[in-house]
Amino acid sequence: MSQPSPLRLSRNLPFILLLLGFLAAPAFPKDVPFRVLPWNGYKAALSLTYDDGDPIHLDVAIPEMQKRDLRGTFFLIGKPLTRDDEWKKAAESGQEIGNHTWTHRHTSELTGADEKSEVVQTRAKLEKLAGKPVLTLAYPFVEISPGLRKWVEANDFEARGGGQSQNYLTPGMDPDWMNLPSQATMTAFPYETYQSWVDQDLSQGAWTLLMIHAIEGSTWYQPIPKDIYLKFLDYLVEKKSELWIAPFGEVGAYWRAEKWLEKVEPKKAGKKTVLHWKKPSVFPSGVVLKAHIEGGGLVVTQGGKAVLPLSPDVYPVAVDAQELTLENAAWIPEKVAPAAAAPTPLPSQETWRIRAGGADAKDSAGNPWAKDQGFQDGDIAVTDRPITAKRDADLYRTERWGKDFSYALPVPQGEYQVRLLFAETYVKKPGERVFDILINGERVLGNFDLLKSAGAMDKGLEKTFKGIRPDADGKIKIRFTASVQNAKVCAIEVLKIH
Ligand SMILES: [Zn+2]
Repeated sequence: MSQPSPLRLSRNLPFILLLLGFLAAPAFPKDVPFRVLPWNGYKAALSLTYDDGDPIHLDVAIPEMQKRDLRGTFFLIGKPLTRDDEWKKAAESGQEIGNHTWTHRHTSELTGADEKSEVVQTRAKLEKLAGKPVLTLAYPFVEISPGLRKWVEANDFEARGGGQSQNYLTPGMDPDWMNLPSQATMTAFPYETYQSWVDQDLSQGAWTLLMIHAIEGSTWYQPIPKDIYLKFLDYLVEKKSELWIAPFGEVGAYWRAEKWLEKVEPKKAGKKTVLHWKKPSVFPSGVVLKAHIEGGGLVVTQGGKAVLPLSPDVYPVAVDAQELTLENAAWIPEKVAPAAAAPTPLPSQETWRIRAGGADAKDSAGNPWAKDQGFQDGDIAVTDRPITAKRDADLYRTERWGKDFSYALPVPQGEYQVRLLFAETYVKKPGERVFDILINGERVLGNFDLLKSAGAMDKGLEKTFKGIRPDADGKIKIRFTASVQNAKVCAIEVLKIH
């Protein structure tokens, strides 16, 4: 029931290709003796996810997994759910329950109100059933609309989509947490297909997700032969010492938290080095990372309590504590922090054309536009909505968004013009997104209501600012701060005028 139509896939292909250009997040430099071990210290990770609440999952999948001490994720549809007590038991035994919407309808059939209730109503029902927060979702038919995504972002810390160009997620990638890829099992696939997925996952040190539907004995979508399913589970058991087989939410939460910790700037106070981070409001509790920390006479504490190593130099770090203190660490943050903050300095140049959240491209006049760079903070998104613009509508499809984010672009001395491209593809009414734009600290546009200025959704809008000079650092710094919802920008052009 989650198989996309070929049409949908081909329609999405250009956007999937765009995603390939996204930058990987900077990791700790090699000389820092602190790092989170990827995939909970295993070589690779794999998540078994099951869709639609097919009764065969209760009858075959779960008992067979439990025999082998395996845990997975079951994405249930709220409204037609039956055998609630058995799902409840499955949740209590450590299987993860995820949201697969209330009615499993196509996005084209959903009104704005439906988009909300499909996510929210299901979450409430499943949380009652599972007795714990349900913070993950799989999109029916792997279809994602901006309206649906908005509710998923508010209710889930990650969501699963379908097959993409890269189904093996490696630690350095910066994935779209609201659309993580998965590989679907199919009736016609031989056993070797599934074994090769595991082997590839291990050889790449990656995380891969399986989207499983029916198993032989069920008349639901794409039943796979039972002997193949069991042989596959046995193969997973064989690989358990090097493969972290865990529910979608557990692996995802670990990886997400690992990413924030990589970006934390350590603060030094005497003999102590302190790391602080902030957990997002929608995030599971109880996540523990394994961190490799080196140092003779090292004392590690969280919330004032000693943290003892699991093995030499490997410590459990509780994400909920939002703090980690190292005493006598063989680590001098003052020397390390600049390297962590500035991975590679951008060259100073007279012309900048940047696609926020996008990949390298050429416009209709033949000008090259570079992949996203020079930014600090914010998140990225891409839309497949039908954009209208005077020209180069594709430049309006990608974006960087956030409460407060900025770009710093080095330029030689001179006078510049800054042109910013926008399109509202998300909020539906004027007043629902309002933000300010500052260039080198000066407010060049206040209370900018993008939808109101553009006059309609999905319509390209340009704003040009003239007489701009680089600041004392030789940079043009463009900052976006929101007072309502989030600020956004699709593309940035900086041109030298004099
Ligand atoms: Zn489905």
